[in-house]
Amino acid sequence: MAWTERQQAMLDAMGLRLWVPPVLDVASEAVEVAPVSAPLAAAPAVITPAVRARADIAALDWPSLRTAVAGCTACGLCQSRTQTVFGVGHPRAQWLVVGEAPGAEEDAQGEPFVGASGQLLDRMLAALQLTRSSEGDAPPSQRVYIANTLKCRPPRNRNPSIEEMAQCEPFLVRQIELLQPRIILAMGKFAVQALLRSDEPIGKLRGRVHRYQGVPLVVTYHPAYLLRSLQEKAKAWEDLCLAADVAEGADRPS
Ligand code: SF4
Repeated sequence: MAWTERQQAMLDAMGLRLWVPPVLDVASEAVEVAPVSAPLAAAPAVITPAVRARADIAALDWPSLRTAVAGCTACGLCQSRTQTVFGVGHPRAQWLVVGEAPGAEEDAQGEPFVGASGQLLDRMLAALQLTRSSEGDAPPSQRVYIANTLKCRPPRNRNPSIEEMAQCEPFLVRQIELLQPRIILAMGKFAVQALLRSDEPIGKLRGRVHRYQGVPLVVTYHPAYLLRSLQEKAKAWEDLCLAADVAEGADRPS
């Protein structure tokens, strides 16, 4: 099989040499529509102050949204955070990467996907000529915005609760509305839960195109997991190539 230049770059970025991927056929991929308006499984059914605030959040622009997140005390995670982790990237980026919750380094630096997992993600993105930087003159098609499902770090990196995810969800929803991405890459279990309302394992959801509010969405493994599970790197590479094909296809007239 002949590797394309992009495929070789991605393999190099992920430390792979001999893996031969299956031929991707985006046109034949199943397209699933997620019931994004459905509440998270155990979200409170009553109208809480936080739920009422969703309408206010939905009207915020980027600066106001960042300010609202920075001052948010809607769930208990506000008590243990060092700072909120809003997101990073150009506000006109066509790619959106959604992660899970901030870890210790994200909490300390105030930016998602830093440390070893962030470096792996950056190498993967760079192999596709994509950047999280908001500087420079890269076109929107080469820019990536990165946001987490939760904006505050759970203590000791525990899993976020359903209630915490529900409280924080309006911020991510508004980020997506403002960004209007061409492609969403959901990395990890909690990003998938928030965006697709699915508890299915990543392995069952990856490899096909889902949709969030009409936006194509590809599921893949979280970089932190890839650092522990080297055999899954090839699948993550395949997922990124699928996302790139979908993003490029969105530029072509149908
Ligand atoms: S995790 Fe989200 S909802 Fe909870 S305090 Fe932080 S910003 Fe607010």
